[in-house]
Amino acid sequence: SIPVLTIDGPSGSGKGTISRLVAQRLGWHYLDSGALYRAVGVAAGWADLDLADPAALVRCTFDTQVGFRDDGPGEPRVIVNGVDATNELRTETAGAAASAIAAIPEVRAALKDRQRAFRQPPGLVADGRDMGTVIFPDASFKVFLTASAEERAERRYKQLKDKGVSVNLDGLLREILARDARDASRAVAPLRPAEDAVRIDTTGLGIDEVVERVLALLPA
Ligand code: C5P
Repeated sequence: SIPVLTIDGPSGSGKGTISRLVAQRLGWHYLDSGALYRAVGVAAGWADLDLADPAALVRCTFDTQVGFRDDGPGEPRVIVNGVDATNELRTETAGAAASAIAAIPEVRAALKDRQRAFRQPPGLVADGRDMGTVIFPDASFKVFLTASAEERAERRYKQLKDKGVSVNLDGLLREILARDARDASRAVAPLRPAEDAVRIDTTGLGIDEVVERVLALLPA
């Protein structure tokens, strides 16, 4: 079957950057599953939907088109219902909306096949919270990345600053902790490492070092 490498972990653990670089090095496809949940969150915001109305959010999930445009250097652009929403998607407002929406079982179910469709030859690197536990339980390689909450908040802070989004570091840390707590405590697909995942604590490690450690798990 087509090989899959799953990379799960909390926000700011470095999943996105590491997964993209590893996919590039392997020449494999890349799935940013968080972008799907964020896209639904952003689309719900555009439609002025109530985050406490699950039925409306489930409909919104089915109605939201998400495309990835990977044509130039850097991050792929994320197109939501025809609009380039890449920058809006990365805000903590979108992250919080995504986390609220991601706790609805029907939303997760609706996104399952869309995620599995990314499994194409020669292989897939899948980045998220439940890639190794729910979406690709049969993945050949599973990684769970962690890092201290402070370092994760700092990474997000830098990421947002580079994008010209101004944020407050303390507020960001609080928001990230709240989001992680919700992701870990929800009834469906709570954030946790798959039993067969290799855990890597990235606190104090550089990007290249983590990339090498992940690549070292795969046969040469
Ligand atoms: O990874 P990212 O921070 O973009 O994810 C945003 C939110 O989407 C997470 O806080 C989580 O609630 C949700 N998510 C999820 N399952 C995934 C990916 C993201 O529940 N596979």
